[in-house]
Amino acid sequence: MARIVLENVSHTYDTSDRPDSDKTFAVQGLDICWDNGTANALLGPSGCGKTTLLNIISGLLTPSQGRVLIDGRDVTTQQPRERKIAQVFQFPVVYDAMSVYDNLAFPLRNAKYPRQEIDAKVREVAEILDLTDLLKAAAAKLNPADKQKISLGRGIVREDTAAILLDEPLTVIDPKLKWYLRRKLKEVQEELGRTMIYVTHDQHEALTFADQVTVIRDGVLVQNGTPQELHDEPQDPFIGYFIGSPGMNFFECHLEGERFVCRDQLTFPVPQAWRDVVRDHQGEQFGLGIRPEFVHVHQDAQQGAPCQVQVIEDTGAYRIFTLWQGDIRIKARVSEAVRRQEGDEVGVTFREDKMKLFQGAKRII
Ligand code: ATP
Repeated sequence: MARIVLENVSHTYDTSDRPDSDKTFAVQGLDICWDNGTANALLGPSGCGKTTLLNIISGLLTPSQGRVLIDGRDVTTQQPRERKIAQVFQFPVVYDAMSVYDNLAFPLRNAKYPRQEIDAKVREVAEILDLTDLLKAAAAKLNPADKQKISLGRGIVREDTAAILLDEPLTVIDPKLKWYLRRKLKEVQEELGRTMIYVTHDQHEALTFADQVTVIRDGVLVQNGTPQELHDEPQDPFIGYFIGSPGMNFFECHLEGERFVCRDQLTFPVPQAWRDVVRDHQGEQFGLGIRPEFVHVHQDAQQGAPCQVQVIEDTGAYRIFTLWQGDIRIKARVSEAVRRQEGDEVGVTFREDKMKLFQGAKRII
């Protein structure tokens, strides 16, 4: 298994043959390190450059600029075959005409492993992936989740695989089997300690699989960190909004004395602990961030900022209130204990130690 490093990697596709060609970076100036044996996720919205990056790592694409290092070796111009990187795609790649056993044995036979070793490895991997009872079955007869397990099995069966790249591997899996396969991927990673990079636009998949999550937007790295860090300490408003369910509330506001004023419609007191930091920034524009779970809804409309309950969504486990004041919307995640109805007037306060302050894309506090 290996440590993979990207150094200042950028890529621009050659679109000069297209009449409306607009040459822009697909990914730009990326410095990322995936440590040996770790579970990682590459997370971002559609078109942000995830597939481009995976192809650069696997060698299907040579970046326009920068270097790819595997265990300190520069592999930027090396062919995919030489890099020993396994890839699991959205659609399971299995040989339908073969049995599960032969599918798993395929990479080992290709690499001319001795017959006994092939048998031992195939059985070991089948055991890990709960495929032992299916070894003799024709791959064509399996459901998509079992087929995806074969794809993964082919990736892990060779011990000299440097890393396993998982490209949206649960997209075509039935919701009932998704949970099971997600657990299985995580278990395999923990048991084998292989370097894995899981690409997805789904924050839930990224956060439940990975120890380190890299968030990309428009080809640029926004933040790299543990799921907890991304959730608790977003360094960019995009992270606050993109991570969380629902995402962080943001309010464009300016500082007036010791209050933040949002569009002249809502004001919030500056937390005591922030006063020294913001004192000299009177009149400046800020972005105030607060997660819905730290917005408190009070029955008394005089307590905090006055708002009206616009919509209540019940998820079963908790309820999301959409509160409004003028054209400002606030999402609050509230417990059953808050007995309010749509249309009610309420008071809103924020848990001060959980508030975040931004200026532009930069986190201040
Ligand atoms: P998705 O989640 O939708 O697959 P992604 O995050 O994987 O998206 P990429 O497919 O890497 O993003 O695309 C990044 C950018 O590069 C996009 O603007 C896309 O239009 C562009 N792009 C991707 N492949 C090509 C190509 N072969 N030629 C030209 N532009 C491309």
